[in-house]
Amino acid sequence: MIPSDVKTKRWPLPVLHQRTGKLTERLNRETSEIGLGSLPTRKLPDAVMKSVCGFCSTGCGLNIHLRDGVAISVTPDVEYPVNTGMACPKGWESLRVLDAPDRATTPLLRQANGDFQAISWQQATATFCDRFKSIQAEHGPESVAFLSTGQIATEEMFFLGCLTKFGMGIVHGDGNTRQCMATAAVAYKQSFGFDSPPFTYADLELSDVLVFVGANPCLAHPIIWQRVLQNRNNPVLIVIDPRKTETAMAANEHVALMPKSDLALLYGLAHLLIEAGAVDQDFVKAHTLGYEEFRRHVSTFDAQTVSQQTGISVEQLHRLVHLIAGGKRVSFWWTMGVNQSYQGVRTAQSIINLALLTGNIGRPGTGANSITGQSNAMGSRLFSNTTNLLGHRDFTSAEDRQCVAEILSIPVDRIPTKNSLAYDQIMAGIESGHIRGLWVIATNTAHSWIGSSRVRELLAKLDFLVVQDMYHSTDTARLADLVLPAAGWGEKEGTFINSERRVGTIKRASRAPGQALADFSILRLLADAWGCGELFSKWQRPVDVFGAMKQISAGRACDITGIEDYAMLDRCGGVQWPWTVSDAATLGVPPTHRRLFQDGRFYHSDGRARFIFIEPKAVPEPTCAEYPFVLLTGRGSVSQWHTETRTAKSPMLRQLSPAPSVEVNPSDAARLGISYGDLVEVVSRRGRAEVRAIVTSNVQPNQLFMAMHDLQTNLLTLESVDSESRQPCYKHCAVNLRRLKKESGVRYGCS
Ligand code: SF4
Repeated sequence: MIPSDVKTKRWPLPVLHQRTGKLTERLNRETSEIGLGSLPTRKLPDAVMKSVCGFCSTGCGLNIHLRDGVAISVTPDVEYPVNTGMACPKGWESLRVLDAPDRATTPLLRQANGDFQAISWQQATATFCDRFKSIQAEHGPESVAFLSTGQIATEEMFFLGCLTKFGMGIVHGDGNTRQCMATAAVAYKQSFGFDSPPFTYADLELSDVLVFVGANPCLAHPIIWQRVLQNRNNPVLIVIDPRKTETAMAANEHVALMPKSDLALLYGLAHLLIEAGAVDQDFVKAHTLGYEEFRRHVSTFDAQTVSQQTGISVEQLHRLVHLIAGGKRVSFWWTMGVNQSYQGVRTAQSIINLALLTGNIGRPGTGANSITGQSNAMGSRLFSNTTNLLGHRDFTSAEDRQCVAEILSIPVDRIPTKNSLAYDQIMAGIESGHIRGLWVIATNTAHSWIGSSRVRELLAKLDFLVVQDMYHSTDTARLADLVLPAAGWGEKEGTFINSERRVGTIKRASRAPGQALADFSILRLLADAWGCGELFSKWQRPVDVFGAMKQISAGRACDITGIEDYAMLDRCGGVQWPWTVSDAATLGVPPTHRRLFQDGRFYHSDGRARFIFIEPKAVPEPTCAEYPFVLLTGRGSVSQWHTETRTAKSPMLRQLSPAPSVEVNPSDAARLGISYGDLVEVVSRRGRAEVRAIVTSNVQPNQLFMAMHDLQTNLLTLESVDSESRQPCYKHCAVNLRRLKKESGVRYGCS
């Protein structure tokens, strides 16, 4: 059952308050820049604005069409190299989700009786500062933390990270990218020396063998899947996933392994490839470190042993080795099935190891390629200043701190000398009482964090919870003490960085409703109210921060100093990092597609990539007599995005989305007397969910599947994280299932 809200809620109508001083200035600027300030007295010409999509990390290019200065529709950009005229249903509905009755249109403050009261921005910023400062004064600077997001512009993340850590003295802040990409970031950093996805999307069309591990691009990244379908090499498609996903259905080989036996499988494939003589010895000798130790490590993963540990037949293992060894351009792709694991980093590295072993990296159609989740997860990884100091530097390095201080002209003693707590550690800090104030920006912790029933109790424990969001109705905003109304995609400007490292622009084509402001403007108001605005006085507009991002990136792997301005990004169809001043001088125009490591040099000081490995560990919560099923989770629909905060606002996307359900294998359903459409109960040690049963052989016996979008799913999941990346393990926990109500004749359908 979904727990009832901890505090009562009643939503007042937005009340406009007198606009004074800096707020008037910001609102005027936000409206005049898109020509809306003077409507409806003069007719504006019809126009098209180019913008990157605001949902997933594919980063499709969209055209926003304006009539009389009003954004009326969106179409995919045929010239943008990512999507070449295609978009998934979410992209097409980008504008629709802005028109919702539950948009936050004015700041809201919780009153003593539990109700929200609309207040002015002046009151909101004063309350924000008073409450957080008094918590810090009483309990120390580390008693206030923030949770950021991969959904806002890079310039906003950059400003947020600088304002909190250098201006407000906040030490601990993490992003919701911890939930999706932390594993890939750590894996790349350790293996390659920098968090550096090496691929370009063109590789999807150039491979002759594509291996997808724990990835279902058909639903999760539909335009990436379209690029696979455009591959003219008649490629072999291998899908490694316990569940017969939509992508697995199209595969030449579906490797339906036992849940979380992926590490053993990948080590077994490495061993068999070595035995088959498929090692690219020249590449391994010239460009890697640790091969001999790795070879010895995997030597015990013989076909028979791996077959027992994974449930994959010896014949299929040999078939896979034959296909990979026979490929001239083999690419390996992974997403959340790997990242969201208790041993995700080593699993990601076991994929990287296969690419290194076979020399499938740095050439067209190859690579060990992590597909990102959120629209700006890559921006967050490089520039959010949360757990890494800006530009993937280290808070604990005096040299890095000095460098950042000089570039930004801020006193070096304002930069924290220790790393931030990770998301799970911030939650633990709330539980222990060390963290008493929390600022949540554009993420929905109460729904998305693992083991969410406990999360609601933790959030309710806080002395002060601020939620900055487009909507006042998110599960987290309902628990807030203060809600700050934010503009969304299409209502503000800046840049996003997609999975293939492409920097693209987002545009302000609509005015945010009521008094909602761009996150950038909210940060400016808060900086001034806090008393540290002077530190960031050079940053009056996102483009000013973009200039600082370029400076911070200089000389780093993610160098973007060659990007002139936003107009260049639009002109070039986005630019993939690195794009340095020297690249620009040598090459002139950025190539449409660029991949990393073409010269075999990696980012470690010796230029060599590392083979990294461990002994596979047992799952944290094995099944037992009381909880005999493994619960798998994942994306359940192409039309919904994560916690559905935005996508559920579109009637069309809702129509395309299935109702909350659990997939059950026919043999288990027959044993438990469950038919298609029956109301069933899924129970874990942490909570229970009531959903409809879908009886399907897409899941194996003793396994169930529920979509991440359903609020109930995380009531069941286990709070367990990867020790290297601290990313939660959403993909495996023990549950039980029973029928609640027979629904004879009812067909499962869309909501
Ligand atoms: Fe937007 Fe992703 Fe859909 Fe492209 S695939 S239109 S980026 S949601």
